[in-house]
Amino acid sequence: MKAVLLPGERRVDIVERDVPVPGEDEVLVKTRASAICRSDMGLYTGTSAIVGGEAAGKGLIVPGHEPAGMIADVGPAVEGMAIGDRVAAYLPIGCGRCEYCRAGYMMLCTTWRCLGFDVDGGDADYFVVPAANALPLPDEMSFVAGAVMTDMVGSQYHTQKVLGVRGGRTIAVFGLGPMGAAAVLVAKGFGADVIAVDILPERLELARRLGADTTVNPAETDPVAAVRDATGGRGADVAVDCTGAPPAQNAALDSAAKRGAVAFVGESRATQINPSDQIIRKLLTVVGGWYFPLYEWNEITRFVLSRRVPVEQLVTHTFPLDDAENAFAMFDRRETEKAVFVWPDGA
Ligand SMILES: [Zn+2]
Ligand SMILES: [Zn+2]
Repeated sequence: MKAVLLPGERRVDIVERDVPVPGEDEVLVKTRASAICRSDMGLYTGTSAIVGGEAAGKGLIVPGHEPAGMIADVGPAVEGMAIGDRVAAYLPIGCGRCEYCRAGYMMLCTTWRCLGFDVDGGDADYFVVPAANALPLPDEMSFVAGAVMTDMVGSQYHTQKVLGVRGGRTIAVFGLGPMGAAAVLVAKGFGADVIAVDILPERLELARRLGADTTVNPAETDPVAAVRDATGGRGADVAVDCTGAPPAQNAALDSAAKRGAVAFVGESRATQINPSDQIIRKLLTVVGGWYFPLYEWNEITRFVLSRRVPVEQLVTHTFPLDDAENAFAMFDRRETEKAVFVWPDGA
């Protein structure tokens, strides 16, 4: 089979590998779609600081932590799943026994490994995951939809649900890359009013097409004042930072209403805030948003189907795996938003 490897320094190798054999509790998935994510760029450049263990960024692991496909083989101990089942992959692989795994939060397991960073992922014709990580994909959903519904839509669904996003409430989304765009779609699915904030006009245009009610460009207007203006002076009930950039993180805190909530979703290592003015004296709730618990997957698919959330609109480019070098280069140069490798039907 063909597989992509990222040895660093923006090199992309397409190599020939044996089709992996599923272990006792694992399934082999024939990949049909695999999304590129901003977090892959650390592997691509070889400077990964956020995710991945020893092997990440050395070209030893097949990337691709947002894949979907069809089960092609099942391990001897797997029950209730069969060849031909359509699935998306749940990326954290946990021990299965600790309190976090049992609660469905496998990314909190002390020994968790990440698909596409610590273990071979979906940028290949086939990949293997534990059966527990193979999420059933409803027939009405395409593989491309399945690929963007985990890390992107799933993360936003969980975070916004926790923060009570719903009709009658206003959410401000900072940073309209793929994650912010997913935030807009999910918030509209919940029925909320959405204020989209980004410095790139084309991203604001995309946000409008996805349903954002108000767009704000901080290069032209003070975003905190703009959010206040759009909310009758109150501020947003919920603000979500998808940038990881200190100015936007601060603007998110400042644009949230008293007793409102802020989620930090964009990865970052250091920032400076003023807790007294920005959090304590506003009785703000501040949370981290990172993926979703395993048990929530079926609810997420029901939400997307019943609210007709057009998740495929997040995808601006698709590529065959053979075009991986071009795909990673374009994504790196931000010439694409969400980009997905797709395999032709029947291939
Ligand atoms: Zn991702
Ligand atoms: Zn565990």
